[in-house]
Amino acid sequence: MSYSVSPIGFVHSCFKEKFAIPRQPQLAPAARGVLELVPPFDQSHALDGLEQVSHVWLLFLFHQALEAEPRLRVRPPRLGGNRMVGVFATRATHRPNGIGQSVVRLERIEPGRLHLSGIDLLDGTPVLDIKPYVPYADAIAGARNDLANAAPAPIDVHWTKASLEQASSEALRLGEPLVELIEQCLAQDPRPAYQLPAPERRYGTRLWDVEVRWHYPDPQSITVLEVLRAAS
Ligand code: SAM
Repeated sequence: MSYSVSPIGFVHSCFKEKFAIPRQPQLAPAARGVLELVPPFDQSHALDGLEQVSHVWLLFLFHQALEAEPRLRVRPPRLGGNRMVGVFATRATHRPNGIGQSVVRLERIEPGRLHLSGIDLLDGTPVLDIKPYVPYADAIAGARNDLANAAPAPIDVHWTKASLEQASSEALRLGEPLVELIEQCLAQDPRPAYQLPAPERRYGTRLWDVEVRWHYPDPQSITVLEVLRAAS
């Protein structure tokens, strides 16, 4: 038996590459994007009442991680990348049906568009459904998850004088909190837990239309080296 689903919209996100996207929503409040709804869901009556809601659940497709063969066991990066657990015990992107879910802040509503923050979604992510966050039902006091019981401890993020000036000026041009976005994303330490970075190794990703480059002068801190407008 199979069912087909189709997107109700697509996300325009600050994250243009998978690398350095936080592993869950809310870890980078400066991560912003717009969910652009497609017909017929772009009509205003589909969104009637949503202005009374501060956060929404998005159900979406991990469209850049879809695989023909489902995996039953995965190696979550959070567990060091060398421990296997059942796929259903994780939020791994490689999963049956490739469905993700994230609770994000609803900043404002425009006709056919939802402005969002605190996202962990790649640019172009197809969204299958939107549901209001319901605090009395969704926040469960005393809930436990011994595989992931707290957000990972943030690591220190430093700047060179030049990289901070570059980021501040690109932030002004974009009208986005780019310095905060870079700090919040890099503080999550995007490298796989099993990788011990040599200080000379450069890492990078694209946020909005800028390339961000950094290195690890020591395993517990990051220095941002460059924030430059991408070539295209
Ligand atoms: N909050 C969601 C969940 O629990 O289902 C996502 C968790 S998943 C561990 C988060 C990662 O998914 C991000 O770090 C990013 O690299 C990846 N990701 C986000 N959007 C994606 C997409 N459209 N396709 C593939 N991977 C994506």
